[in-house]
Amino acid sequence: MSHCICEHALKLNRLLVALLSNPKGNIQFADQKQEFNKRPTKIGRRSLSRSISQSSTDSYSSDSSDDETSPRDKQQKNSKGNGDFCIKNIKQADFGRREIEIAEQEMPALMALRKRAQGEKPLAGAKVVGCTHITAQTAVLMETLSALGAQCRWAACNIYSTQNEVAAALAEGGFSVFAWKGESEDDFWWCIDRCVNLEGWQPNMILDDGGDLTHWIYKKYPNMFKKIKGIVEESVTGVHRLYQLSKAGKLCVPAMNVNDSVTKQKFDNLYCCRESILDGLKRTTDVMFGGKQVVVCGYGEVGKGCCAALKAMGSIVYVTEIDPISHCPIMDGFRLVKLNEVIRQVDIVITCTGNKNVVVREYLDRMKNGCIVCNMGHSNTEIDVASLRTPELTWERVRSQVDHVIWPDGKRIVLLAEGRLLNLSCSTVPTFVLSITATTQALALIELYNAPEGRYKQDVYLLPKKMDEYVASLHLPTFDAHLTELSDEQAKYLGLNKNGPFKPNYYRLRTSSDQFNTT
Ligand code: NAD
Repeated sequence: MSHCICEHALKLNRLLVALLSNPKGNIQFADQKQEFNKRPTKIGRRSLSRSISQSSTDSYSSDSSDDETSPRDKQQKNSKGNGDFCIKNIKQADFGRREIEIAEQEMPALMALRKRAQGEKPLAGAKVVGCTHITAQTAVLMETLSALGAQCRWAACNIYSTQNEVAAALAEGGFSVFAWKGESEDDFWWCIDRCVNLEGWQPNMILDDGGDLTHWIYKKYPNMFKKIKGIVEESVTGVHRLYQLSKAGKLCVPAMNVNDSVTKQKFDNLYCCRESILDGLKRTTDVMFGGKQVVVCGYGEVGKGCCAALKAMGSIVYVTEIDPISHCPIMDGFRLVKLNEVIRQVDIVITCTGNKNVVVREYLDRMKNGCIVCNMGHSNTEIDVASLRTPELTWERVRSQVDHVIWPDGKRIVLLAEGRLLNLSCSTVPTFVLSITATTQALALIELYNAPEGRYKQDVYLLPKKMDEYVASLHLPTFDAHLTELSDEQAKYLGLNKNGPFKPNYYRLRTSSDQFNTT
């Protein structure tokens, strides 16, 4: 470790310790380049990636009563006369504030950061340009960044996901927000441009979700990168683009891959799905889970979450797997079966393998009347939906994202979200999960912004392990949970620093249910 890196680590150390009054203190950050423990795969542009802000997009934002005038054609000012924003309707600010207050309750780490940042301002001088979903959770993040000293200008990364009332609350609070629900493609780029292209103001940090903002600056304002200290990227797609740029030698600033942080991954895949599988099924079908026979295809993190939730609700759960090491479904009390053994009897089929053609027409033909079929995997390849588009089958739209597919003999199955990812299509992501993401983003910004010259090269990095652990530890006080501290003797015995990191970079965290799943 070079001298300046040590100094930097110590400085950040003091900063965060002061901010958070961590009783353990002595935060140190790994200085080495992190291993990329997961190469992301590409997904469609501007899809509803799991990110900060995917919750509660249906609160007050329907705006059916609003006029049809484009926000771009309206003169807009908040109550203090500031007009450096473009949103749907500033009058909704009060409703947005209430949404933000609900989110704050489930984002304890950001609130702690904010509260204790009164003296230290680790982002003083930071000019953050952001492009993420704009909902209540993002607002909590933006207001935290502001409390840490940053100036923020923000656009939406998705043309549909903005909570208009939240955008209004942010604008009323003095934030330069350019976003509304239902932007056109042209509006989308216009909003991004308004964030970036301002006389007398140049961003020095990018917080992106999907890579569109980064792409825009590369295309239109490449000189801006001279002042930009780093990019924090949230989504699989954006991270993939950054790796491509890096590979081509075209990445001109350091970038942090937030998507693959261990804590975030754990919450996204296991804990989030454990909750949202029930939410997605309930919202779409009002099904009762007790006593239902369910088959879950794939017993990875997502599958484990689904199985645990359904078992707890009294469902009889079967699992299919291809991997012999995944014997743990049996140890967890689930029957390991082949799909064809149970397909005639099950009430619900859930895929979460990340694979293709797991549920094919042959199985769909044999399902019983009323069987619910859905996918929790990343892409819509797991259920062969195309095979259901044949003349003898009738499709009937029942609700949004719910179709009956009816066979000539009257048998029908209930297909959810046309085989796309159920929870992201039909339910919301718990704010607490987004809190993990938002805290990871905030710490990644602090790390890149404060990093001394040369610490990070023009490459893509994972958040240092120590900070990843820190994100998790910041969420513990909510539960009145207490970590055991290593004694000097124990630390020596395990060869660990008492203050972490507690696991090597290659270590994949396991839960109690997969502790036997060793490789
Ligand atoms: P994982 O790799 O941990 O688990 C997938 C499991 O499926 C593996 O154990 C694999 O052996 C098994 N499998 C593969 N092909 C199979 C087949 N034909 N039949 C039965 N089992 C099979 O992955 P994960 O973290 O559980 O993620 C699974 C999918 O869910 C991925 O596509 C991921 O991107 C997606 N995902 C969804 C959400 C969500 O919110 N819905 C969240 C995170 C990840």
